[in-house]
Amino acid sequence: MSGHVLVINAGSSSLKYSLVDAKTGEAAATGLVERIGEEQSHHVHHGPTGDFDDDQAVADHEAALEAAVRAFETHGPALADVDIVAVGHRVVHGGDRFAAPALVDDELIAAVTDLVPLAPLHNPANLEGIEVARRLLPDLPHVAVFDTAFHQTLPPYAYTYAVPSSWQDEYGIRRYGFHGTSHSFVSGQAAGLLGRKLEDLNLIVLHLGNGCSATAVRGGKSVDTSMGLTPLEGLVMGTRSGDLDPAIHGHLARVAGRSAEETDRALNSESGLKGLTGANDFREVSRRRAAGDERAQLGFDIYCYRLRKYIGAYYAVLGRVDAIVFTAGVGQHSAEVRAAALSDLESLGIHLDPVRNADPTDQIASTEDSAVAVLVIPTNEEWEIARQALDVVRR
Ligand code: ADP
Repeated sequence: MSGHVLVINAGSSSLKYSLVDAKTGEAAATGLVERIGEEQSHHVHHGPTGDFDDDQAVADHEAALEAAVRAFETHGPALADVDIVAVGHRVVHGGDRFAAPALVDDELIAAVTDLVPLAPLHNPANLEGIEVARRLLPDLPHVAVFDTAFHQTLPPYAYTYAVPSSWQDEYGIRRYGFHGTSHSFVSGQAAGLLGRKLEDLNLIVLHLGNGCSATAVRGGKSVDTSMGLTPLEGLVMGTRSGDLDPAIHGHLARVAGRSAEETDRALNSESGLKGLTGANDFREVSRRRAAGDERAQLGFDIYCYRLRKYIGAYYAVLGRVDAIVFTAGVGQHSAEVRAAALSDLESLGIHLDPVRNADPTDQIASTEDSAVAVLVIPTNEEWEIARQALDVVRR
């Protein structure tokens, strides 16, 4: 085997890994250790010689990666038998320091540490994953691939908030955008599907998973995106509010005595579909809506209405749109969301084909003569991280 990358995505209490062939995207093995540090953890590993499933306690990220290495030995493929060219690490926030993936060294670790205030939940966990992996796999090059990097091409008028300009210099306050590896990956796939060069295409990419974001992509470059300083801004998400009036923080502090942290937590964890309907999982919202639940119906309407507003905004940003691309769990699987977000937009050249849209095997959901193609493309962030890591080590 050749050209494999071990892709690591370390969260605060989880470690997800995948051994990916950077050329084909095929995963030789995948695994996930969850509930790290709790009394009962959960480790699953899918390898070529079978699946491993274990509930023993895993104390920390080091123990999690050690367990992963053992699972490779027992359920394949043994890491020594694979030509691993790099370890690719997902890093959420690269600030304005990283517009591209980069080789991990002490300087990079210091820079990602400096960015912790911008991503206090994510960057420390990502760093932990990098440090543990460097200790356990010291002979391999490690590459950091940033969620924010794809959006470093935004022009200043798109990334600058209308606040005192010193805030950007002093506190780094600006739009960064997230889900960059996904937006980048599906943009490339869209060009392949349309049989056209990415440089010639204007795309609106809608990543609708637990987190949701929209990006306007011109010629393969992100020119605007809905997530901002943090992944809270923009579309309605599973548990995040997306856009709202920034005065809400101050108002709740005055009338309800709520601290900034309390409101922050509620907007990140108790809002979005969960706040509106009681359920953050879109399939559950769909079930309740189908059963006539009014809150689920309103939540669905708000979710799709926000999407529609971003599609309209990014249409105006791009001037001409060649394709609207739906990806991630909801984007890929919910024909009803695509239909609601794109209904009655024929005057913009968007013609959804109801039969193709409802067919889960069809990646094209628009009619033959639609000026704007509507595409449904599965994302594959692990493959994109593997490709970017390979590019860095082969440079
Ligand atoms: P993440 O952002 O965590 O990677 P996913 O891309 O897996 O998340 O998306 C998760 C969301 O996709 C959940 O809200 C889930 O309910 C939704 N989803 C998954 N399958 C379907 C489906 N068949 N129909 C509608 N929604 C779905």
